[in-house]
Amino acid sequence: MLTGLFRMHGMLVASHPWEVIVGTVTLTICMMSMNMFTGNAQICGWNYDCPKMEELVLSSDIIILTITRCIAIVYIYFQFQNLRQLGSKYILGIAGLFTIFSSFVFSTVVIHFLDKELTGLNEALPFFLLLIDLSKACALAKYALSSNSQDEVRDNIARGMAVLGPTFTLDALVECLVIGVGTMSGVRQLEIMCCFGCMSVLANYFVFMTFFPACVSLVLELSRESQEGHPIWQLSHFSRVMEEEEDHKPNPVTQRVKMIMSLGLVMVHAHSRWIADPLSLNSNLDVSQVSSMSLDNHLPKRIDPERPLWQFYMSRLVSMDIEQVICLGLALLLAVKYIFFEQVELESTLSLKSPLSQGPDRAPRWSADQCCRKEVAPPHPPRSPLRTATPTPPALAEATKEERGTSQAECPRAEPSQPSLPSDPRPLEECLTILKNPEMGARFLSDDEVVVLRGVRISRLLVEGIKTSMLDAQNSNSVMGTCCENVIGYMPIPVGVAGPLHLDGKQFQVPMATTEGCLVASTNRGCRAISLGGGASSRILADGMTRGPVIRCPSACLAAEVKGWLESTDGFQAIKDAFDHTSRFARLQKLMIGLAGRNLYIRFQSRTGDAMGMNMISKGTEQALARLQEQYPELVVLAVSGNYCTDKKPAAINWIEGRGKSAVCEATIPAKVVREVLKTSTEALVDVNINKNLVGSAMAGSIGGYNAHAANLVAAIYIACGQDPAQTVGSSNCITLMETSGPTGEDLYISCTMPSIELGTVGGGTILAPQQACLQMLGVQGASQECPGENARQLARVVCGTVLAGELSLMAALAAGHLVKSHMTHNRSKVNLQETTSGACTKKAS
Ligand code: NAP
Repeated sequence: MLTGLFRMHGMLVASHPWEVIVGTVTLTICMMSMNMFTGNAQICGWNYDCPKMEELVLSSDIIILTITRCIAIVYIYFQFQNLRQLGSKYILGIAGLFTIFSSFVFSTVVIHFLDKELTGLNEALPFFLLLIDLSKACALAKYALSSNSQDEVRDNIARGMAVLGPTFTLDALVECLVIGVGTMSGVRQLEIMCCFGCMSVLANYFVFMTFFPACVSLVLELSRESQEGHPIWQLSHFSRVMEEEEDHKPNPVTQRVKMIMSLGLVMVHAHSRWIADPLSLNSNLDVSQVSSMSLDNHLPKRIDPERPLWQFYMSRLVSMDIEQVICLGLALLLAVKYIFFEQVELESTLSLKSPLSQGPDRAPRWSADQCCRKEVAPPHPPRSPLRTATPTPPALAEATKEERGTSQAECPRAEPSQPSLPSDPRPLEECLTILKNPEMGARFLSDDEVVVLRGVRISRLLVEGIKTSMLDAQNSNSVMGTCCENVIGYMPIPVGVAGPLHLDGKQFQVPMATTEGCLVASTNRGCRAISLGGGASSRILADGMTRGPVIRCPSACLAAEVKGWLESTDGFQAIKDAFDHTSRFARLQKLMIGLAGRNLYIRFQSRTGDAMGMNMISKGTEQALARLQEQYPELVVLAVSGNYCTDKKPAAINWIEGRGKSAVCEATIPAKVVREVLKTSTEALVDVNINKNLVGSAMAGSIGGYNAHAANLVAAIYIACGQDPAQTVGSSNCITLMETSGPTGEDLYISCTMPSIELGTVGGGTILAPQQACLQMLGVQGASQECPGENARQLARVVCGTVLAGELSLMAALAAGHLVKSHMTHNRSKVNLQETTSGACTKKAS
């Protein structure tokens, strides 16, 4: 019931944010004016002469007070940093600041009404700041930020309130009662401070329960109005918040302890105030009398009503004490650091701005296999507040085909009339019920609802896939003899997602398995820059996997003769026939023949459909060599792979001739985006690119390494998508080029050319469930039904596009000099360092 009440309260506040905010601000202003303009005003401010604090505070206490104030300032700074992690550097920060400010004003006014003097305020302020805990605000904001629509924002705030509200209330109560003990101490100064502390806690609680959730709700509503897209932090945090929900739920044992403690404290308070010691009332009276007496002595006096505000504060500034200078200096220093020097890369990825809202119109073109999804969608669904700006991505089409249980043939034309759909997505449970209802199904869901379901489905697929794979490992069934032998388990590697990557008019969420902190965040930033620039374009230049056996001939002359025969039309056709019949997909395209004395190296090049193709092509090569030996029985096949392929080793032949898929990708990034997202200039990027990726790599004698870190992206995608990770060697061949472009020459043109991307969407590790889920995210899982090889080629384009995003971001970090800083922040394990340090100490001690 209690949680129900809090839920209702949360819903009310989140649904009427303007009313609550305006109400709270008005109340604050009223209280401030009461304080300032009534004759009893007691805050040291404009036109009021303050009582001399030095008389009340011992000089030895000044040091302690200064230290406490400094701690309080640093504490508040860290609280703000926590809020920033949620993705809003200023808005939530300002809301937090106002929470502190209004709590302070309320406390002051309430104490004033209670007729307590405020001469101890200076001492109490730092303690008051320490009482404020913005982590609660963070927790509530996380709930709100995990929403996909404004309705969901309200629901989530209400849900957050239901979960967090009772704990906050109990905490506030316990804090009040504990601090309240101090009000019975008999020490006047302590009593005042504790009284102020209690009021602060209560005021803070009140503001937190009303103003803060209203602010969060309003911020999200405004962000919805200023953009049509889906703020990217929402989806990325969605699952995490759901998981963290468990953490926010109060621990029942702690709750019980707190309740028992509060009961005890209530009894102590009641006993000391009203029952046991009636004198205490008198003593309290005495205190207030003494207070009012002393108040008379220390009442601030109005000095010069004509004196302007700025003059008053200037004079205060000039006559500041050393401890005030220290505190002000520290506060200013931290504020400057927070505002100007805290541009971590994550900020761009968590920004409230959606990439979709800012670029030109880039609605994706629909390919044949997506038309089904398009037609099923409502004719012109009204845009929901936080709806995705573009139609369902291809991966979704793929995922939903299965969920809808409809084949393409059944899809659009056989459908009855389209039911009317709500503009805002309904809750997840409701969508699931509709989906499972045989009389309704996916046709009754809007695009946004399907997107949400898809997110959940992908996570489930990954988790279920991992479970299945674990079982497989135990049973040693599908893995053994296919992907691994002597299986003892699995090595979990974190999988992040970068995107959306806007490529060829489509959007891709790219899965990346890595343990290198920064990599996914950095790629995300690159994706964002690409999006804001209007997206990237890619093309496949060639498609052919290679195998290069070594054959020994009796003499160099015979080797030359064999070469001639293989290059003749008849010879090639005979070999091709033998090769092609080994597979439904392998089709020999070309033979490249090299000679070394009497050794013959033949590089077979073949299309391999959607498979990476090494097994497939090895099988074909074996048959082709058998046919060659029929023609020349004296030949000896030394090895089916003579390193002329070349597989999993750096080699110029792949760089020059290409291997697997050869792809190129390009994008133009406007100068503004270079400045604001990449935090550098086009000129600096071009300069670093020439001198690092081109001249530097030439100096190092590199082959195919004319890039910043293509291997990082290739390896991460390969591991996530079940590719052979060793093929990162050749697949990372890439030349990154950058030029100035645009009318003013300040825009950036970037291209990545990758001649040897070796990958597939069938065979190898792509048979494992988690890897399949990642391929599904990209809409390329399995064999392409329409055109064999199309899925693998699409995956190669995504790899090339992601490499471009990664190159952009890392080059920008290098040009701006941010690289080391961001790695120190996001890539250094504190845990390991601590363990090492403590280990070293233990060793020393022993
Ligand atoms: P594979 O699983 O060995 O072969 C692909 C299979 O999928 C073939 O049986 C093929 O049919 C079938 N298939 C169905 N639909 C297809 C489609 N649309 N396109 C292509 N094939 C389709 O896979 P692979 O790519 O050839 O080999 C990958 C494995 O080789 C990886 O595990 C990799 O680590 C390993 N590898 C091997 C070597 C080596 O020297 N052998 C070197 C490096 C890596 P068909 O039977 O009709 O062809």
